[in-house]
Amino acid sequence: MTPAEKTLIYGRCVITDARSDPPFLENAGVVVVGDTIIAGGHTDALRRRYAPSREIGGDQFLVMPGMVNGHHHGRGLSAFQGGACDDCLEAWIYDIWTEPPSDVYLNTLHGALRLVASGVTTVIHSHYHSPVEPQTYVETAQTMLRAYEDARIRVRIALGIKDRNLLVHGDQDIFIAGLPQALQDDARWMVDSDIKPETYFAHFAALYEQYAGHSHIGICLGPEGIQWCSDGLLRRIAETAAEYNVGIHLHALESPYQNAFDQREYGEDSVIHLDKIDFWSPRVSCAHAVWMSEEGARVFAHRGATVIPNPSSNFRLRSGIAPVAYLRQMGVRVGLGLDGTGINDDDDMLQEARLAHLVNQLPLLDAPRLDTRDVLEMMTYGSARAALLDDAVGSLSEGRKADIVLLRFDEICFPYTHPRHNPIDILLYRGRARHVDTVIIGGDLVYANGRFINYDLREIGRRLAASVRTMEPDSRFSRTAKALKEHAMNFYRQWDMPHTDPFYHLNSSV
Ligand SMILES: [Zn+2]
Repeated sequence: MTPAEKTLIYGRCVITDARSDPPFLENAGVVVVGDTIIAGGHTDALRRRYAPSREIGGDQFLVMPGMVNGHHHGRGLSAFQGGACDDCLEAWIYDIWTEPPSDVYLNTLHGALRLVASGVTTVIHSHYHSPVEPQTYVETAQTMLRAYEDARIRVRIALGIKDRNLLVHGDQDIFIAGLPQALQDDARWMVDSDIKPETYFAHFAALYEQYAGHSHIGICLGPEGIQWCSDGLLRRIAETAAEYNVGIHLHALESPYQNAFDQREYGEDSVIHLDKIDFWSPRVSCAHAVWMSEEGARVFAHRGATVIPNPSSNFRLRSGIAPVAYLRQMGVRVGLGLDGTGINDDDDMLQEARLAHLVNQLPLLDAPRLDTRDVLEMMTYGSARAALLDDAVGSLSEGRKADIVLLRFDEICFPYTHPRHNPIDILLYRGRARHVDTVIIGGDLVYANGRFINYDLREIGRRLAASVRTMEPDSRFSRTAKALKEHAMNFYRQWDMPHTDPFYHLNSSV
């Protein structure tokens, strides 16, 4: 679209803002100039008032804000496609360390394009890096960002760092000392190779400067998880985030072993512990929080930190179910993420939204639950706020960026769906990525008629597959990860797991 051109984007129904009343309008649209929405309302009124020179839409479409994937890792191939079967997180991490490498650019591009094709226009990317290749840290991040830039998707990349407990959630020296002698040197090499905090903060500052003012890319801080980061590191991250005015995105309370780690390490809930060093704030978003306590939820609600549930990932990695209905009832901010581990292994954001809706339907009539509008808010405004982008994206209101998705509403309803249902229910009950017809990001048409304007997704996939090469059989990292896995699992098997009182009561043995 040329800068002054007025474009009308319209459909049978427009979901404007999950928080407004009503959250949708029939026979409506928005007018876009440049990268910004300048007006919204009924289609005929917009045509009369703005005389748009261009129109995108039709009566067959549902128009909605671009979805915001609040937690992702930029995977163009899933962990399963890379050779890892689903398992408990602590075991699965060892398996993904043995995946064959692939071209970083093509991998990220394929992942980003697949998100766009499912209606995602903004993503929070949690940037993992290989612990034994710290020298490629910046180059890898830049390559990933080039792929996101080419895909036209907005991204907040949370640069990963950990400074402890790489191999197990516990003292590395004790764990390594208990390994067979032949394995100790390799284990020590893995632990000692990882990027050091001083280097990390220098990399963050350089990347922040490089992308300052970029329309689609933002750099933020990514302590990879509470159990992997010392108090000193987290304190410095909180200070740096405030200094640069950027977000902090991390994994937290994902698995029962992380929950048990809290008591072993701190003698208390890690959320409470980190509140004592003023870590939590509206800048912080936490993926998972399956094992969040009531007391922890109160801290989150008070401090304005966001939880990003990833229900598919939590099923697949045997983590549990985040108590989102209770968290929202307690005033905790909540988004939604895919974690690259969707239930059908295909990164379908609408499918993830459906799962988030269903897993938060509890037995008993008056139990807390999510309705479809709650989930719509999580996947738009909630995740946008976690990305510190809620003044720019997450709704189709005047002044917001023109990140807009058109879905084939006629296909979603096919062959018949009762007119008593509101469009949000219809979207959340029946919508899939395959119903996404058109995606506009920052006013740019990137996907139309179910195809990319600039890419052939299958061709990108073929080139990605061609780049995958088998990890050398004598690769020290892969070989060490394979050898360590069973020792790490035995480490956890010796733990006394704490007695817990769940939020959700889903069945009964008596
Ligand atoms: Zn993750």
